[in-house]
Amino acid sequence: MTEYVITPAATPSLAVEGQEARFPLRRVYCVGRNYSEHAREMGHDPDREPPFFFSKPADAVVPASGEVPYPTLTSDLHHEVELVVAIGVGGKNIAVENALEHVWGYTVGVDLTRRDMQAQAKKAGRPWDLSKGFDASAPTNPLLPVSQVGHPVKGIISLSVNGEERQHGHLSEQIWSVPEVISYLSHAVELQPGDLIYTGTPAGVGEIKPGDVVTGGIKNIGNFSFKMGEKP
Ligand code: MN
Repeated sequence: MTEYVITPAATPSLAVEGQEARFPLRRVYCVGRNYSEHAREMGHDPDREPPFFFSKPADAVVPASGEVPYPTLTSDLHHEVELVVAIGVGGKNIAVENALEHVWGYTVGVDLTRRDMQAQAKKAGRPWDLSKGFDASAPTNPLLPVSQVGHPVKGIISLSVNGEERQHGHLSEQIWSVPEVISYLSHAVELQPGDLIYTGTPAGVGEIKPGDVVTGGIKNIGNFSFKMGEKP
């Protein structure tokens, strides 16, 4: 057994619906601008860009329930509701036609974003890390295994704040499908069991204020409800 000079941090993990055993997390990747209307609302041409990726720390994944802490260093926290893919079988240079064999399951999650900090980073040509990858920046529902939900390719994906619908789209509107996203990413990095991929958000992203109640979900995948904490 390996000895460490300090006590190692616990393995980050995500709950699995209806099971005691949890899904251990390794890496968290996110796709940028994967729905046309959202790409347009962010000022980009959706038709000419290949998918691009950014990361969040695995321990940024927290339950999309109860209270989620409002982060420091922002006055414009944004919600992005997303289909989340969990990788159960690793691989590199995965072909699109084999990509779904690597999926363990799916769920719905929220890519929380310090939009003001991200805008400054974009303007200065700096990395997005801290605008996307802060503590508790990925409230996410328990996972559902493929044996239970299959491979979702359509269905409404939506998010509301204080009961008012802000985001409303369909999984079928993704520019890059789940198999294409897995294939692209696996050409950039070797995927391993425990990796999550947040597959992008439909149009309607906007601000969440401290104390707001955030609800949403994906048809046949599940619904979530959490409250944002007070401003730190
Ligand atoms: Mn996103």
